[in-house]
Amino acid sequence: MSSLTHKIPSYFKVKIDQDLCKKCKRCTTHCSYGVLSFNGEKIVSDDDKCVACNRCVAMCPGKAIRIIENDSYLPPHGNYTRRIRNIIWRQSGDGGVLLSATGNDRPIRVIFDDLLLDACQVTNPSIDPLRETIETKIFFGRKPQKLEFNYNIETPDDISLKTDFSPNFEIDMPIMIGHMSLGSISYNAVMAIYQAVKELNILAGSGEGGLHKDFYEYGPNIITEIASGRFGVDINYLQNAAGIEIKIGQGAKPGHGGHLPGEKVNSLISQTRMIPKGSDALSPYPHHDIYSIEDLAQLIAALKEATRYKVPIGVKIAAVHNSAPIAVGIARGGADFISIDGFRGGTGAAPRIIRDHAGIPIELAIAAVDERLRQENLRDQITLVAGGSVRYSADLIKAIALGADVCMVGMPVLIAMGCRVCQQCFRGLCSWGIATQQEYLVRRLDIDVARNRIINLFHSWNEELKEVLGAMGIDSVESLRSNRDRLRYIGPNPRIAEILGVKHAGE
Ligand code: SF4
Ligand code: SF4
Repeated sequence: MSSLTHKIPSYFKVKIDQDLCKKCKRCTTHCSYGVLSFNGEKIVSDDDKCVACNRCVAMCPGKAIRIIENDSYLPPHGNYTRRIRNIIWRQSGDGGVLLSATGNDRPIRVIFDDLLLDACQVTNPSIDPLRETIETKIFFGRKPQKLEFNYNIETPDDISLKTDFSPNFEIDMPIMIGHMSLGSISYNAVMAIYQAVKELNILAGSGEGGLHKDFYEYGPNIITEIASGRFGVDINYLQNAAGIEIKIGQGAKPGHGGHLPGEKVNSLISQTRMIPKGSDALSPYPHHDIYSIEDLAQLIAALKEATRYKVPIGVKIAAVHNSAPIAVGIARGGADFISIDGFRGGTGAAPRIIRDHAGIPIELAIAAVDERLRQENLRDQITLVAGGSVRYSADLIKAIALGADVCMVGMPVLIAMGCRVCQQCFRGLCSWGIATQQEYLVRRLDIDVARNRIINLFHSWNEELKEVLGAMGIDSVESLRSNRDRLRYIGPNPRIAEILGVKHAGE
């Protein structure tokens, strides 16, 4: 039987209008996947290699290129969909675990889309954000259970605060850029992110790849990560950060470690991660020194000691079936913040089976964790960070109303920088200079342009947040947190509304 019998039909077709083509060959150099070439007469395409990154379309001066879905791909089938047949074909070809990138792309209903926001009418006035102050600042870190004062009735003017405050970081918007390591994304992408968070006074995660010396000046806005591989962890890394996060899990790959292939470990990555050049950076699935909440509490205590109790220490878990009791254990273990990453969360590389099928939606996890922390009288002490496909300001606002203090945002930041969500980050060939370490590709990402686009994006989110708070008659984002009565459910499954603690629209 010919091997052609088992050739996977291409997903995309590259259409080149030869009348418009100027034969400048620009597209052939811009395509990092080797799709386009010049055969001496005209540009030709190898459609099997096309990932629809759209770089050629954007760069073509003649507007001669179109990329379309291959509609003759396969006969339709409701059960054995194009996607499932593609998976079977690829696995029967190479016998391996399929990798993918970005977030879960299965067409699963997004609960955020089934939630509606409330607005004031007549009886409680709304607030005009153009004329009145609406506070979007929040304090990131542990809060005391109660405030105690030194006070003497005989000298009533002599009053001072007795309660010791844990370290808190003040941020101007309830937004943190999620952990994307140098290695998973390029130097220019990381630099753009760090410059943007400094300008916005928000936070960014370092990912598990250590912190290159060039980024130390942005440390006051960076939460560094301690993952199971402990890449790049030394005392400088710990002491040059706004906070430290112990990564137990990630939404895109719950129960999994990390894998940066050796090809991506160039000298920049090798120095930053403190591993030999060209070696695979594999972080184990579990932390081999954490098998209980007590072990976790010990690491939290050790990190507090190492940072002289000056920065908040948190723990990140993937949203899974029992996130709520785990979160309680983390809070009791001394963490100052908990990050929960939902099953639609992004990644640079994950086994597709895990990315697409493990974990639970962040909306349900926020509600469950918030509720349980409340029952245990812990909620007001700890900062709850939530992520896993917070796509735009509407999701941010709904996540906060469900119970999050801060949202982690990843993919929108990449998209703002130019990402076309082609899901090929793990190959290291990103034609937009984002998820790559190839020098000639990295140079394509202009740091200033990327930084400014991130700044604009979050300015607009924050303005929209103020618009919504004003319409709700709320003057501070902290008062929106866990205010689920300002949400209503319109989806098809009332049980979801029950778990969320949200009434149905009309109630
Ligand atoms: S970039 Fe556009 S105009 Fe230039 S060779 Fe390619 S298709 Fe033709
Ligand atoms: S970062 Fe680059 S490789 Fe990854 S999805 Fe976006 S465009 Fe594709």
